[in-house]
Amino acid sequence: MAAASMVFTDCSSPAAARLIQRTTPLLLRTAQNAVVFPRRLLNPPRSLSIHSSSSSPSQLSSASIVNEKLEIVNKRLDGKKVAEKIRGEIAEEVLRMKDAIGVVPGLAVILVGDREESATYVSKKKEACEVVGITSFEVHLPENATEQQVLEAISGFNEDPAVHGILVQLPLPRHMDEQNILNAVSIEKDVDGFHPLNIGCLAMRGREPFFVPCTPKGCIELLHRYDIPIKGKRAVVIGRSNIVGMPVALLLQREDATVSIVHSRTKNPEELIKQADIVIAAVGQANMVKGSWVKPGAVVIDVGINPIEDKTKRSGFRLVGDVCYKEAKEIASAITPVPGGVGPMTIAMLLTNTLISAKRIHNFQ
Ligand code: NAP
Repeated sequence: MAAASMVFTDCSSPAAARLIQRTTPLLLRTAQNAVVFPRRLLNPPRSLSIHSSSSSPSQLSSASIVNEKLEIVNKRLDGKKVAEKIRGEIAEEVLRMKDAIGVVPGLAVILVGDREESATYVSKKKEACEVVGITSFEVHLPENATEQQVLEAISGFNEDPAVHGILVQLPLPRHMDEQNILNAVSIEKDVDGFHPLNIGCLAMRGREPFFVPCTPKGCIELLHRYDIPIKGKRAVVIGRSNIVGMPVALLLQREDATVSIVHSRTKNPEELIKQADIVIAAVGQANMVKGSWVKPGAVVIDVGINPIEDKTKRSGFRLVGDVCYKEAKEIASAITPVPGGVGPMTIAMLLTNTLISAKRIHNFQ
């Protein structure tokens, strides 16, 4: 998980998360234990009782991006560009919904502890919400908060009609039972898609989950946006984690691919990978997949984000994927870069899930 957490440091200037309180007594109580809240926010005057952030989608790029046709240039599947296009579409829908029924989608994030990379990731999610006009809510609890406090925060958001999506930023401190906490999120607001009922429905034929986890959904969306066929293709997923490998394999299967999963005990992984028309790597091992493992013409989606030492960078490191990009690009027909591939798609899918949730709750087509 160490590597996974570095994913979220994929920005050169980590900004401290701006903290937002909620209005309910429950969460104000919680906030009083949160050492990170500035004193003046602990007892806000009534007139300042709006503790969410929302904005009009004014920072979005022009409509031309929404309408621009996507083409694979230089074999590159440009997640950044696709994500921008998706954000433009979401902003339009948010406005349409607001104009039609006066409802603005709301996303609540619960952050526990002071991990810099988690705070950075949360602030990126909030910024993304602001850009598309989604309201964001946040509860930030200290590292030594109790599990009960987290459960109370979740319960408050579960009940709050202004909140359509809830996510608990992982990892949680060691003394907390992650499963117990994730299970407490209302399945109808589980925009991360990690609730066992959502994953269960994803795995079953004829069932539809309320939400599909964001990173796996982003991988498939990228293929769709570039019109890359999945049906009938041989796909290999490297990695079987609950958050990426397993759900992306389920999604590929739903799209009628024939799917094999490679994991740490797989013998001769290259033998399987060489047969794949589509490779999705979610391992957390820098440059593990060599160019010679890739079938000529295959499509490669590299989820991995791994920091490796680079003395030429001010930070002392740079990020690379699980696939040796330079080598694989020569053999594949299309490949995602790292960074700029799956990463931006993950946040775009979080916004999509929040919009879907608000539309479903308010029965808005
Ligand atoms: P994880 O929970 O550590 O799972 C890694 C998976 O890779 C496990 O299933 C493991 O197998 C398998 N594995 C490990 N070493 C292997 C090897 N040598 N050969 C074959 N399989 C191997 O990691 P994760 O959370 O899924 O994340 C995977 C990568 O994606 C990380 O680099 C992470 O930073 C990145 N990530 C990116 C995003 C994004 O938005 N772009 C989001 C999430 C994660 P076992 O099951 O046998 O242990």
